[in-house]
Amino acid sequence: MDQAAEARWERVRARLRAEFGDAAFNSWLKPLSLYRSYDGAVELAAPTRFMRDWVASHYGERVRSFWRGEDPEVRDVVIVVSSALQPGRGDDDAEDAAAEPAAEERDGQPVTSPLDPRFRFQNFVVGRSNELAYAAARRVADNADVQFNPLFLYGGVGLGKTHLMHAIAWHISQRQPGRQVMYLSAEKFMYLFIRALREKDSIGFKQRLRAVDVLMIDDVQFFSRKDSTQEEFFHTFNALVDLNRQIVISADRSPSDLEDIEERIRSRLGWGLVADIHQTDYELRLGILQAKVKQTGARAIGEKVLEFLAHRITSNVRELEGALNRLLAYANLVGRPITLELTQEVLQDLLRANDRRVTIDEIQKKVAQHYNIRLADMHSARRARNVARPRQVAMFLAKQLTTRSLPEIGNKFGGRDHTTVMHAVKRIEELRQTDSTLAEDIDLLRRMLEG
Ligand code: ADP
Ligand code: MG
Repeated sequence: MDQAAEARWERVRARLRAEFGDAAFNSWLKPLSLYRSYDGAVELAAPTRFMRDWVASHYGERVRSFWRGEDPEVRDVVIVVSSALQPGRGDDDAEDAAAEPAAEERDGQPVTSPLDPRFRFQNFVVGRSNELAYAAARRVADNADVQFNPLFLYGGVGLGKTHLMHAIAWHISQRQPGRQVMYLSAEKFMYLFIRALREKDSIGFKQRLRAVDVLMIDDVQFFSRKDSTQEEFFHTFNALVDLNRQIVISADRSPSDLEDIEERIRSRLGWGLVADIHQTDYELRLGILQAKVKQTGARAIGEKVLEFLAHRITSNVRELEGALNRLLAYANLVGRPITLELTQEVLQDLLRANDRRVTIDEIQKKVAQHYNIRLADMHSARRARNVARPRQVAMFLAKQLTTRSLPEIGNKFGGRDHTTVMHAVKRIEELRQTDSTLAEDIDLLRRMLEG
């Protein structure tokens, strides 16, 4: 590490201590270390993911501005997790001994996106909503012969898609080290491809991709329309399938709803096993909280509090984990026991946000499913009755079940004007009085959405 950077870091630390005081400094900032600095970027390492998130959200701005004060050339300061830099450190399960699965790139950097050391099968709590996805992921990880191609995992944010993909990679690298696994976010895939094009190395790029046994691409909804990466992905995909290699894909929606992806690619993506991860239910949320408390060896936290959280934080697992972490950190800092009152106080904003937990996205999805139309038609300009009516129903439900304003709702429906939404709401109100089928549909949908 260069000495000038170390010296700057010392000064930044001193300023942070002066600004935030000893207590906060010792708890949060002192554990950070300078990992490296290069090309106007500075990387600090935090010992855990939780610390990283906490520091980034609470102190990130100040850290950045102090660095810039020391060195105006610095464009970005990022905080990384030190355990992710050296997998296998500080974790007690056997799989951790594995080296990070990585295909080597020309410059010695792994092509694989970083794997989170905590995303293992044994840390994944299985419930009704994710059992199919879990079973399929395990099957892929356990068997060298390809059984379904691709495995397509989809579900809303924070429900465990990335966790399962990393778990596959860790598992294979441990049990079948001879198999080459490549895990890439869709963004990283695009980045590598574009870089290869720029460096006139697209043949090398293809060869590297085609050398892997298992290729995983996360969040393919980020592939955008009119993009040659899509085409390249498709060719690679077909080549790997022909070579009988396993492919695992994730997205936040089903293959047929990937609007920005070309039709023939979309349909090809659905040929293997498509596993939907549903919203969590209460039992799973409670199970995850209990597992997490056990894992972190956190101080005693009463079952009542866990039950309360499982009831109230229903959005997704990421938020649930975040709520628990925040609660533990707060209680730790102020040295108060974790009671229901404290929980309500500390998590006020999160609890409120989860109260109006029905989102317009969910409404659109459910309504589209119910009427058997494409999700895309919620945003489209098509006016045919068979899509226009469900769209109006969705707008009506959005008005009733969320706190969104008419213009916000209009926006979510392909940028429609608020008067269109107002009209839709009125129209459905009227029709409901005379059309009992419609009234029942709405009732059913509302119950599904609120349940
Ligand atoms: P996604 O990729 O679907 O957006 P992630 O895989 O990143 O979601 O999961 C978000 C967070 O929730 C991660 O910290 C992950 O470990 C955790 N998580 C999700 N599902 C589960 C589960 N079933 N058991 C334990 N942790 C989970
Ligand atoms: Mg993810």
